[in-house]
Amino acid sequence: MQERTESQLSAVLEKEPIKKLKFGKNSGFQTELRRRVDELFQNTDLKERDCPQMYVKTAILLLSLFGLYYGLVFLAQTWWQVVPLCIALGVVTAGIGFSIQHDGAHHAYSNFAWVNKLMSMSLDLIGGSSYIWHWKHDVLHHTYVNIAGYDMDLEVGIFGRLSPSHPRLPFHRWQHYYLWFLYGFLAIKWHFYDDFYCLITGKIGDRTYPRPKKSNLVIFFAGKLIFFTFAFAIPLLFHSIWLVLASYALVAVTLGIVLSVVFQLAHVVEEADFPIPVEEVSSIENDWAIHQIETTVNFSRNNPFVTWLLGGLNYQVEHHLFPNICHVNYPELSKVVEQTCQDYGVRYNHHGSFWAGFLSHFRWLRRMGASA
Ligand SMILES: [Zn+2]
Repeated sequence: MQERTESQLSAVLEKEPIKKLKFGKNSGFQTELRRRVDELFQNTDLKERDCPQMYVKTAILLLSLFGLYYGLVFLAQTWWQVVPLCIALGVVTAGIGFSIQHDGAHHAYSNFAWVNKLMSMSLDLIGGSSYIWHWKHDVLHHTYVNIAGYDMDLEVGIFGRLSPSHPRLPFHRWQHYYLWFLYGFLAIKWHFYDDFYCLITGKIGDRTYPRPKKSNLVIFFAGKLIFFTFAFAIPLLFHSIWLVLASYALVAVTLGIVLSVVFQLAHVVEEADFPIPVEEVSSIENDWAIHQIETTVNFSRNNPFVTWLLGGLNYQVEHHLFPNICHVNYPELSKVVEQTCQDYGVRYNHHGSFWAGFLSHFRWLRRMGASA
């Protein structure tokens, strides 16, 4: 189960105005689930980490990234070559985030800490800070899924109302139409604003976090330097500024849409719970594992291509329960999780296809934006 230590959490939460949340007592479900999953790994050839398929996948994705980049900067001559290369580069960049960086950041890639660190730093290469991601995603999002004010993935400012706990503004009634457009800006905002804002203010949303120091600060700035050199400085030596900006925009918008849609389909749909902490005692009723399952929804479980490209994030239930197990194991894990849920009467959410999840997100946005 997730290795979320008390000290790790208190480091980020103790200085905060809002109290740390407690989850309900382990109901026995968690222990039994862990036992069954351990049994799966003991009785099969599956490996929790250092899976050969993962190393092959890393090579394919990184070679695709550099190959597409080379083709775009040095070979493409016409718009009909530039456009598909930009879209493919956006999709492959998302794939690197979903598979290599995400597993590395959760210590799910390897049993060696340095391998995980190296893989998580692939995010710095593609324009995001791996250090800030750790606090925003591994700590805040994973612990407090779908709890407004704690899970920063739910916060889109005044532009949208993703949770029933957020205030409704009149223009939210159209959010199921316009938010898709704003999703396209996610990567651009991340590249130019989010990480720098977190670094300067020492905050992620309303939460304080320990600012990067020493080697983490060096990695932060080295990553930004490398990314901006690849994204702008090198292309500008060979092409006009307008072509470079337009190409960057197309790659980044593709990346933003893919990232946003995959994030949203996992948690911001009709079937997911949005728990509200009991105010006086700052507690969540469910035990931690049941909270993770009831706030999370899988999709397209039977599509190996989707599973490969999304780094298993179509199996978010399994990811949230076992974030430090390599994602290539999720299809097998899901059978154990679904069966255990059935045995314990826990609701296991999943959509049969990507489109079913997509439509559910659309309907949830419409419902949240509609007047009461
Ligand atoms: Zn994660």
